[in-house]
Amino acid sequence: MIWNETMECMSREDMRKLQGIRLKRTVERVYHNCEPYRKRMQEKGVAPSDIQTIEDIVKLPFTSKRDLRDYYPFGLLSTPMSEIVRLQASSGTTGKPIVVGYTRNDLNIWGEVGARCFTAYGLGKNDVVQVSYGYGLFTGGLGAHAAVETIGGAVLPMSSGNTEKQIMLMHDFGAIGLACTPSYALYLADALLDSGIPREEFKLKTGAFGAEPWTEGMRKELQEKLGIKAYDLYGLTEIIGPGVGHECEYQDGTHLCEDHFYPEIVDPVTGDPLPPGVTGELVFSTITKDGMPLLRFRTRDLTSLNYETCRCGRTSVRMSRILGRCDDMLIIRGVNVFPSQVESVICEIPQLEPHYLLIVDRVNNLDTFEVQVEVKDEFFSDEMSKMLELKKLINHRLQSVLGISPDVKLVEPRSIGRSQGKAKRVIDKRILK
Ligand code: ADP
Ligand code: ZN
Repeated sequence: MIWNETMECMSREDMRKLQGIRLKRTVERVYHNCEPYRKRMQEKGVAPSDIQTIEDIVKLPFTSKRDLRDYYPFGLLSTPMSEIVRLQASSGTTGKPIVVGYTRNDLNIWGEVGARCFTAYGLGKNDVVQVSYGYGLFTGGLGAHAAVETIGGAVLPMSSGNTEKQIMLMHDFGAIGLACTPSYALYLADALLDSGIPREEFKLKTGAFGAEPWTEGMRKELQEKLGIKAYDLYGLTEIIGPGVGHECEYQDGTHLCEDHFYPEIVDPVTGDPLPPGVTGELVFSTITKDGMPLLRFRTRDLTSLNYETCRCGRTSVRMSRILGRCDDMLIIRGVNVFPSQVESVICEIPQLEPHYLLIVDRVNNLDTFEVQVEVKDEFFSDEMSKMLELKKLINHRLQSVLGISPDVKLVEPRSIGRSQGKAKRVIDKRILK
């Protein structure tokens, strides 16, 4: 099923035209209503009249997370405060949060793009959908909430936490859809098992998972453990929240709602545009928002774009799985390591649970790298030789994927902390030194 066929299946040519018109309008808006943007453009010698088609976008300056912090809290609004009806914020990692203001129209757009996502997952007006993303300043809960209401489904606004109750209501209310982070979904999968209620008594069949990077291996785990189809839901606060992109029934790339959010891929170091298929940093321009439009916002997320028409009939561009954020990348003994690479190795080894932690430190000027991973109950053994053999196997696989050899530590099932929101999988002690 497709929510908005006109927009999701538009020809490439028509889409480029539409994007051009919308971009032009947005550039005028920010130029006249938002001083930091006007200044930036003047510094670069670009006037609104220089932007006529979508190709002209490369003339515009970038916006970064740093800008959002510098103009905290409302300096990047392009609309008077009287038009703003909602404020959301993302935690960020340090210091002040990043704040976004939405007009009524922006909230409608959020509902619209969210509806495209949940429709693509096969959900509709007869379905109860449990939203277990956190509600509050974090956009996950309220974003998924609006999506379910827009498609006319019955939204169950659980927020995260209170896991036993989550399972009870999932069962009693016959939830068909579950929206939460993939790491919380794993946690719920264990809780479902522990509840002792037979799986047949649950109606659950669809997961809308996102807000953090996850791998194909993790998808397999979740689909098997929960007996559902697990779909990707992508988004970020600065652009709107969850709903920027979604998978379809083919689970072959994340369709982006590019009539609202125009994507580019650039070299993370030089900022030069990269061609389709090449991995680089994802950059978005919002081309329909009024409250706080952002132009050429550097997401720090690493991915690539594919413009081929999908088997589902949608022509909207698809991005590949997010490898991680540029700032998630660890440099250990000079080698670049993404936690998602470790995750894919772990998910391929049947004896392991998909719960892991990377611990990086520096001892005597040398980086140390430990990977802790849980062994499944049935494989956890007192026999030293068996465990040593398993350790060697993991070490070997990690070495071949990462190019460096970590110190693998096998731990008992359920000994690594569980997450109810975004998982924390890296402890880098070097930062503290
Ligand atoms: P914060 O920056 O505090 O984490 P957000 O909640 O806005 O705030 O997080 C957005 C980021 O979360 C994205 O830029 C991306 O790194 C990550 N993210 C969101 N959805 C996905 C997804 N489906 N796959 C991978 N990463 C995701
Ligand atoms: Zn598709």
